[in-house]
Amino acid sequence: MPVCELISVGTELLLGEILNTNARFLSLELAAMGISVLRQSTVGDNPKRLALAIEEALSRSDLVIISGGLGPTPDDITKEVACRVLACDLVLSEEISEDLKAFFSARGLDMPKTNEKQALVPKGAKVFKNPKGTAPGLAYEKDGKCLIMLPGPPREMEPMFLESVKPFLSKYSDQIILSHTLRTFGIGESAMAELAGELLNGTNPTVAPYAKDGEALLRVTARAESLEKAEALCKPVLDSLQKKLAPYVYGIDVENLQSQLVLLLEQSALKLATAESCTAGYLSKKITEVPGASKVFECGIVAYSSDIKQSLLAVSADTIKTHGLVSPEVAISMAKGARHLAAADLALGVTGVAGPGPDTQGNPAGLAYIALVAENDIIVEKVQTARSNDRDYNRRIISSRALNIARLYLLELKAKVRE
Ligand code: AMP
Ligand code: MG
Repeated sequence: MPVCELISVGTELLLGEILNTNARFLSLELAAMGISVLRQSTVGDNPKRLALAIEEALSRSDLVIISGGLGPTPDDITKEVACRVLACDLVLSEEISEDLKAFFSARGLDMPKTNEKQALVPKGAKVFKNPKGTAPGLAYEKDGKCLIMLPGPPREMEPMFLESVKPFLSKYSDQIILSHTLRTFGIGESAMAELAGELLNGTNPTVAPYAKDGEALLRVTARAESLEKAEALCKPVLDSLQKKLAPYVYGIDVENLQSQLVLLLEQSALKLATAESCTAGYLSKKITEVPGASKVFECGIVAYSSDIKQSLLAVSADTIKTHGLVSPEVAISMAKGARHLAAADLALGVTGVAGPGPDTQGNPAGLAYIALVAENDIIVEKVQTARSNDRDYNRRIISSRALNIARLYLLELKAKVRE
């Protein structure tokens, strides 16, 4: 298997002004092609240090991919430095020169003199066209090694990689890597890992647990010569994991809870409304992130003050006085109010304490009540988050819990219809 490394060029990267998204993009793409990236390095726009980085990389790896430093300005030196290291000449490419002139004239501009240097290429290099910009990509092969140079701007580099570089690199790849992600909700990463047990020790596929946005995920990754073989390796492991983690799994290769909820609402032809206090729109934000949410989402009401809960959602002063603002009764009443106002089939009501400290009634931060109200059903759940003094975390987790309550309710409805 060929060994590859990446060099990102640009002082702005070292200064932390620009996030190195090229390294991430290239590593993900190369891994998916079965090309192992064993090292990533970043160097500034400095000829000596760049020359050293290229020399070292070529001494270790079969394939070296550089991004950045192909622009027209004097600090863009990748090509010149690489040619010095490789002891090859830079020659004018008539074809690129014509492409550059066409690029500028299509925009009604004269080509600046500085751009002329972008038509210089290492003699014998393979050129990758750049429809989105002026710096072409280059591949130079020598002594069984290959050095690829790509422009820095992601909007130029990414399509160039996908359209031209990937096919060029297929000769370096004899395997593909396939990953599936199993998503769970309501279980922590370590508890999930415990349930997954020895499945985590496999080598092909590997099963890696990780946590993201308060959810525990498992990534199952197989290597094989073909997609079919990789799928066949993943399938039994995914099936066993799904069995072991059944109550928590909400999908494989699905985007998130909200997309699953919107899908279920669509399938059931039901409309949803929300009334939020402590999450203050976070829940409706999540729902409306999903394209097509407008088909199933009627409205999201942020009712923060006690007065608005009463005037807009018809929560009675009595209920508030007897049970307190953070109570199951108020959550239910808020949901009923939203359901009525929107003439929706279902509504979620959320009331709680975002934190970081307790509320005036002494309710702890991270405590919330979530109610789901439908025509013939009322569900109410108490939530107490784990990292309770983190306001943003509380709002996110409480919103996710609300999404999950609605998701599980709809799944149950579906199961009942089937019976
Ligand atoms: P270049 O002229 O090829 O050096 O690249 C110019 C611009 O591309 C930089 O100013 C950045 O905005 C962007 N860029 C360069 N390298 C990277 C990288 N590794 N990740 C993300 N953006 C980058
Ligand atoms: Mg640069």
